[in-house]
Amino acid sequence: MSFQLKPQTEAGKRTIDAAQSLIASLAERATQSDTDNQICPENYDDLISSGVASAFVPKELGGFGLNSVQDWITTIVTLARGDGSTAIAINMQLGVSRGMALAYQATKAQGKETTGLEHQLKQILSGEMRICATATEPGTDNLHPLTEAVANDKGYLINGRKIFVTMSPLATHMGMNLRMRDNDGDHLVSTMLPMNTPGLEPQDDWDALGMRASGSQSVLLNNVQVSRGAIRKLGTWGQWNSNVLINRALGNLPLVGAFLGIAESAHDLALTKISSQKRVATAVINRSGVQHHVGEAEILLAQCRAILSAAGMATDEFLQRHASTPAAIEDCHRLMKDYQSAKWVVNRGAIDIVSKAMDVLGGSGYTNSHPLARMYRDVRAGPFMQPFAPTEAREYIGKVALGVWPTE
Ligand SMILES: Cc1cc2nc3c(=O)[nH]c(=O)nc-3n(C[C@H](O)[C@H](O)[C@H](O)COP(=O)(O)OP(=O)(O)OC[C@H]3O[C@@H](n4cnc5c(N)ncnc54)[C@H](O)[C@@H]3O)c2cc1C
Repeated sequence: MSFQLKPQTEAGKRTIDAAQSLIASLAERATQSDTDNQICPENYDDLISSGVASAFVPKELGGFGLNSVQDWITTIVTLARGDGSTAIAINMQLGVSRGMALAYQATKAQGKETTGLEHQLKQILSGEMRICATATEPGTDNLHPLTEAVANDKGYLINGRKIFVTMSPLATHMGMNLRMRDNDGDHLVSTMLPMNTPGLEPQDDWDALGMRASGSQSVLLNNVQVSRGAIRKLGTWGQWNSNVLINRALGNLPLVGAFLGIAESAHDLALTKISSQKRVATAVINRSGVQHHVGEAEILLAQCRAILSAAGMATDEFLQRHASTPAAIEDCHRLMKDYQSAKWVVNRGAIDIVSKAMDVLGGSGYTNSHPLARMYRDVRAGPFMQPFAPTEAREYIGKVALGVWPTE
């Protein structure tokens, strides 16, 4: 395929090959899971046994030792060719486990105790630990979580509501951002809690237009008691800082790959179907209207692949550049800007490509039993992904380009 994203590292090749081996079974189960509106446990068993779910676990602990963001993106593109819901769901675990693997390596390099992290990474490898992550709440944005940890004599009491908690029905742990106020100020903090923590109440309310098998239910936090050590400060509540910008960009950039993978799959479906079709006596592929449509979809695919690949490589370069020197906040905004530009192009392009596939394939693709109908709905979820909805992205990109640095 022209401009197709390719593995950049040996660990990436192993991960992408493993993802590739799952495409057929993910695609086979996708229609049923979509109809049932249920996350598919067999897909997660396969993600665990193939090693994809634990790709970031260091090699010495039994994982693939994935490191490259570009390879992470390509993994998500590959999985989404089989099923978009599964691709976005495992992305959450990959994001959190990448952070844990880095923490393990940094702790080890300092000669400090790694037993706890090692244990968790091994649990990710065996599938005993499955992690979802949420930064989304109704009526606010990622920087201003309203779910609050309030200090008490046992630690903190957390109350609030998280929405769109993808993969949560199968997760054993939930990572999240919170607000916490103390004498030092108003803080953005994070925590990761076992799903069976008393007061953590999954709502079983996921019923959406698309991504129906992603298990993106809401989760209520109802007087959840945690210890003092369970909370980690990330910065000032409502304010961008370098680490928050980097982590938001990194965790969400690979998600864009899911929408490219869906578009690639839809385009392939259309090409396969029309290759043998006739209308009256003429082969459909000889009709100029069809050729133009297919040509436009190919151009869009090339655009989407090229910008996503460039964004992935730029992110890897950024991380390498700042491996030992902290990044200035302006550079982090530029990283976020590039991610937002890639997100804009790929999400719009992917929606257009799937729509063109439906035009080319014809009415059968509009029936609910056809995979294209699911892809048409699934691909529409892309632009909502945080941070920056389509109504916000251009303003943000423009501000950064003009050096009008956004603070919140
Ligand atoms: C399938 C799916 C899975 C998801 N999974 C996860 C997950 O696992 N974890 C997670 O944390 N999140 C997840 N999300 C949430 C996602 O990342 C967004 O945070 C969420 O969709 C935003 O909600 P909203 O569209 O209601 O936007 P809101 O941010 O509530 O905005 C509502 C409306 O106001 C507009 N708006 C808001 N702010 C501004 C502004 N400043 N300027 C202009 N217009 C504005 C928006 O464009 C929109 O039209 C998922 C979403 C989907 C669709």
